[in-house]
Amino acid sequence: MTDESNGSNETHGLVCAHHHLYSTLARGMPAPVNNPTNFEEILKMVWWRLDRALDLESIKWSAMLGALEAVERGCTAIVDHHESPEAIEGSLSVIADACETVGVRVLCSYGVTDRHGSEGAKKGLDENRRFLKEGGRGMVGLHASFTCEDETLEAAAEIAESFGVGVHVHVAEGPVDANAATRLKGFTKDNWLIVHGVHLEDDHGLRGILVHNPRSNMNNSVGYANPIRFSNEVALGTDGIGADMLEEFRLAYARHRESDVAASPETAWGWLTNGYRIIPEAMNDRVVWSYPNMDPWELAFSTGVNPIEVMVEQETIWANGASTRVDANEIRAKASEQAKKVHARLAEII
Ligand SMILES: [Zn+2]
Repeated sequence: MTDESNGSNETHGLVCAHHHLYSTLARGMPAPVNNPTNFEEILKMVWWRLDRALDLESIKWSAMLGALEAVERGCTAIVDHHESPEAIEGSLSVIADACETVGVRVLCSYGVTDRHGSEGAKKGLDENRRFLKEGGRGMVGLHASFTCEDETLEAAAEIAESFGVGVHVHVAEGPVDANAATRLKGFTKDNWLIVHGVHLEDDHGLRGILVHNPRSNMNNSVGYANPIRFSNEVALGTDGIGADMLEEFRLAYARHRESDVAASPETAWGWLTNGYRIIPEAMNDRVVWSYPNMDPWELAFSTGVNPIEVMVEQETIWANGASTRVDANEIRAKASEQAKKVHARLAEII
């Protein structure tokens, strides 16, 4: 997916630089009793209820389905950010195992928060540490600075440093987290993932790769991040709305163009390929597409481009419209069963 893509129907495996595999089962969930009217209410009334309804079994099938749907769209590498306050211990291994089964690369992190007290934050930190110590491929996750005490931010940065990895954190997604730069400034490093940044100042001073999630930002009505204004490298994520990275690229281009008529799709394409800065091994993966010329200018205006074959390293994991490793029907059936269970539990969570 560098210059070699031009004139070719092949790319490397695509990378989703920010995903929440746990949200795959959210689709079809019962609507909250009251309609959320802003970003903070969306978090409180939807996502912070859903994450409490998860157990290890539902996390497994949510990840299996999310990973399968990634492969179906030529995405072979996922940077995941997970939260399940009632089932923290072992959760990252469940996600890593699910992705391994489907054949997708994953970089796991647990989103630590003080929303459930300091004991909850400690459990989250412990899970990140446990996973990394056991050799898991991951980063240290933080939900966002506005739900974390200073000691928690410090502890996360320390754990990351000790394992030589970065921290994966939501930053200034909505106005509620507008002082994130002040809170995080002393901690960030170049290997951090700064997710969203919608409400950051242009010269925010945070280090790390800025992960732009245009569809999610639109869905939460938080505004346009306009990531070109930052000096950070920019990568593209979906924030849990699937892993169709060609679709996210097209949308990223459209939003960029909306704010600047001179914008080129090559910029958004560069954001997409910056995913290889986070998971370089995805460059060993190959996707053969239904479109003859995988060129940014053509793809920005071509919908419905589908993978024909997906290879991770030398192994074909998807061909002839199906996974070579797993039974998609079984995964969909199990995920649907788990979704019913999670949705029923939601009724009891206020
Ligand atoms: Zn997110």
